[in-house]
Amino acid sequence: MLDRKGFKNNIERILKMDFGKTLDTAEYYQKYNAVAKTLMEKIVNNWNRTEEEYSKGKQAYYFSAEFLMGRALGNNLINLGIYHEVKEILKESGVDINELEETQEDAGLGNGGLGRLAACFLDSCGTKNLPVTGYGIRYSHGIFKQKFENGFQVEEGDNWLKYGDPWSIRKSEDEVIVEFGDNKVRAVPYDTPIIGYGTNNINKLRLWKCEPIKDFDFNLFNLQKYDEAVKEKNRAEDISRVLYPNDSKKEGKVLRLKQQYFFVSASIQDLIKKYKNRFGRDFKLFPKYHAIQLNDTHPVVAIPELMRILIDNEGVNWKNAWEITKKTFGYTNHTILAEALEQWCKDLYKECLPRIYEIIEEIDKYFVKELDEKGYSHDKIKKMRIISDGNIKMAWLAIHGSHTINGVARLHTDILKNQELKDWYELYPNKFQNKTNGITPRRWLALCNKELSYFITELLGSNKWITNLEMIKQLEEYADDENIIKKFLDIKQIKKNQLARYIKESEGIEIDPNSIFDIQIKRFHEYKRQLLNAFHILDSYFSLKENPNLNIIPRTFIFGGKAAPGYIRAKAIIKFINEIAKLVNNDSQAKEKIKVVFVRNYGVSYGEKLFPAADISEQISTAGKEASGTGNMKFMLNGTPTIGTFDGSNVEIVEEAGEENNFIFGARVEEIKKIKDSYNPKEYYEKIPRLKKVVDTLIDGTFKDEGTGMFKELYDSLLNGTSWSKADEYFLFRDFNDYIEAQKKVDEAYKDRLGWAKKCWINMISAGKFSSDRTILEYSREIWNIKAKKI
Ligand SMILES: *Cc1c(COP(=O)(O)O)cnc(C)c1O
Repeated sequence: MLDRKGFKNNIERILKMDFGKTLDTAEYYQKYNAVAKTLMEKIVNNWNRTEEEYSKGKQAYYFSAEFLMGRALGNNLINLGIYHEVKEILKESGVDINELEETQEDAGLGNGGLGRLAACFLDSCGTKNLPVTGYGIRYSHGIFKQKFENGFQVEEGDNWLKYGDPWSIRKSEDEVIVEFGDNKVRAVPYDTPIIGYGTNNINKLRLWKCEPIKDFDFNLFNLQKYDEAVKEKNRAEDISRVLYPNDSKKEGKVLRLKQQYFFVSASIQDLIKKYKNRFGRDFKLFPKYHAIQLNDTHPVVAIPELMRILIDNEGVNWKNAWEITKKTFGYTNHTILAEALEQWCKDLYKECLPRIYEIIEEIDKYFVKELDEKGYSHDKIKKMRIISDGNIKMAWLAIHGSHTINGVARLHTDILKNQELKDWYELYPNKFQNKTNGITPRRWLALCNKELSYFITELLGSNKWITNLEMIKQLEEYADDENIIKKFLDIKQIKKNQLARYIKESEGIEIDPNSIFDIQIKRFHEYKRQLLNAFHILDSYFSLKENPNLNIIPRTFIFGGKAAPGYIRAKAIIKFINEIAKLVNNDSQAKEKIKVVFVRNYGVSYGEKLFPAADISEQISTAGKEASGTGNMKFMLNGTPTIGTFDGSNVEIVEEAGEENNFIFGARVEEIKKIKDSYNPKEYYEKIPRLKKVVDTLIDGTFKDEGTGMFKELYDSLLNGTSWSKADEYFLFRDFNDYIEAQKKVDEAYKDRLGWAKKCWINMISAGKFSSDRTILEYSREIWNIKAKKI
C-alpha cells in the first residue's frame, strides 16, 4: 500500500525545491518530473540491494548500440502495481495521469525492432529477477522526428532531454577514459532503473555519455579564440550526440566506429574494474562471473577490446586471454540481408583504433592457421577469414570469438545454418542456437490495453498471466461463448474509437471506427514490402471506380514508419503512399469505402495506441528476409489476425494460432530459392492487367513526385533493375495475385462478426509463447548460465 499523504507531500516538496512551484502553478512537465523523482526515491534502496545481491554471483551484460525504451512513467507504475493508486492521488490534486504520461518524450534510443527487443529483454530480466544489466550509449538525440512536407518525409532532431531525464542518475564516480588513435575522452555513466513487474528487484540500464577530458581551453579562450577553445569539447560530445540514423545500409563512417568502440570499451573497463575489486588479478574466473551478449555486430569490437585489456593491462598471455574471451561472449545475429552484414575498411580501424587492429590481425592469423591445419582450401579460407579484401568482417569475428551464436526465429536460424552461415555451422555446429524473439506483455498488453487486460484477469480470476503468459491459453474454452466473445468485440471497438480520436487530434484526419483497421507499422524497407500493400489499395480503388456498388467492407489503411534518411527508395515509397492517400481520401465515391492514413512519427508510444486497435496485422515481407519480427507478436497479443507471408516468426505464430485463423499467402522460402535465378517480373506485369495498371501509376501521370524522378526510379527498380539491384528483387509481382486473394478472404471472413472475433480470440490466447519472458529464460539457461536472484 502506498502512503498517499506522503506521496503527495513528496511531489509538492520536489516541485518547490526543483522548480519553485506548487501543484497549482506547476507546468505539466514539472509535475511529471516531480512524480518521477518521487518514484525514484521510493525504489532507490531496493535498487542498491539488488546490485549488492547480484554482485555475489554470475551476471549477464546485454551490450547493445540501441535501447528503444519509449516512455517510462506508465510502465513503471504498472510494474510497481500502483498505477491506480497514483492515478487517484493525482486526480485529487487535479492532475490527469494520461496528460502526465503524454508529457514525456519517448526515449527513442533505437531505430526499430532490434532496439525495442533490447528494451523488452530488460523488462523481462527485471521481472524474472535475473542478474542482467544493459550497456549502451546515452545519445543526446535519439531517432529523428518524422514530418511530412508535401508528402515527402522530412527529418528533425529529437531533443528528448530538453526537460531533463528524471529516470537516470549520473554516476561520476564510475567514469572511465576511452582512448582512440588520435584522442582521449571521458565516458560518464547514467544509470536508469529497470523496474520489473511484481518484484522488489530493480535492474539497471547503464548508458555512457561522452565528454571531453578538458571542458575548454582556458588559454585559447583568453586569446579570444572562442570556437577553438571548445573544439575539443564538441569533438568529444559528438560521439554520443546522435543515434546513427541508418539501420540498413553499410556506411563506413569514423564517428560510427568511434561510437561503437566508445561504449564497448567503457563497459568492459567497468566490468574489469569491479572484477578486480572482488577477485584480484586472476582472470581465469572471469567467464564464471560474466556473460556478455552482443546484440548484433555493432558491439563486436568488445571481443578484441577484452583481449587488449587482458593482455596489455593485466598481463594475461594470448592463449589464456583468448580462452577467457571465447567463454565470455555470445552473439545474436539479426539479419540475413547481405548488405547489412557489417564490415569495416581495415585502414579506418588502423587509424582510429591501432592497437585493436593489431589484435584483430593476430586473431585472423591464428584463425587462418587453424583452418589450414583442418585442411580447408585456400578459397574457403579466404571466404571465412576475418580480414579479407581490405575489410574486417564483424560477423565472422563475432562467431569465431563467441561460445554461441543465435538466430532470432526458427526459420531464421535454419536459414543461417543451411545457407548464409553454412561454412560456419559446419565448422562450429555446437555454437548455433535458436532463440525466437518475444515481447513484454507488460507494455504490450497490461499497459497499452488495460481494458483487455482487466477482462483477461477477470476471466482467469487472477493477474498471474502477466508474468506467466502461457496461462492465457486457459481461455480457449471461451472461443465459442457468445457472451464473452461479444464483450471481447466491444473492447476492440473501444480501442478503435480511442485510436480514431487520437488520429483526429494528432493528424487532423477523421476515420470511421466501424471500418476495418488494416495496419502496417514498421520501418520502411523494400523487403518489408509496404509497396505491395500500396498496390493492393490502388487495386481496390480502381475496382471501386469501375464498380461503385462493389460490396466490400469499408477499410481504413493505416501506415506508420520511418525511412532511413539516405534510403531514397524507401522515401519514394512513403511519398507514393501519401499520394495514394491524397487521391483516395479526396475521391467522393471511394472515400466511403476506403481511406488511407499515414501517421507521422511512428514510435513506441504511437505503437501503444495502434496495436490494440488493429483488425488486421500486415506482415508481408518477402519470405526469408525478415529475421523474426516482433510487431507481429504485439498485434497477435492484442487479438489481431495476421495477413502475412511464411517468414520470420510468422511461421511460429501460425503454428500456435492455426493457419485457419490467419491469412497466409505468397511464395515460401523454398519457392523463392527455386525461382530466384530465372525470375522475370515482366512476365507477371504483362500477364496480369490489374498489376500492370497499378504499377503504371508510377509513370503514367496519375501521381506527381515533384520532378524528383523517384517514382520512375521505383518503376525501374521493379521492371528493369539497376546496376546494384535486380528487377523486383523482393518478388512483389510474384506475390501480387496471392496477396489480393488473401485480402478478399479477409473481407469475407470479417463479414461474419462472431466468426471473426473467434479468430481474434484464438490469436490472443495463443500468444503465450511470444512473451519475452520465455525468450529471456532460454537465454539464461542455454547461453548465459545464470540464475534468478530475488532480493
Ligand atoms: C515492435 C516495434 C518495431 C518492430 O516492428 P517489426 O514489425 O517487427 O519490424 C519497430 N518499431 C517500434 C517502435 C516497435 O515498437
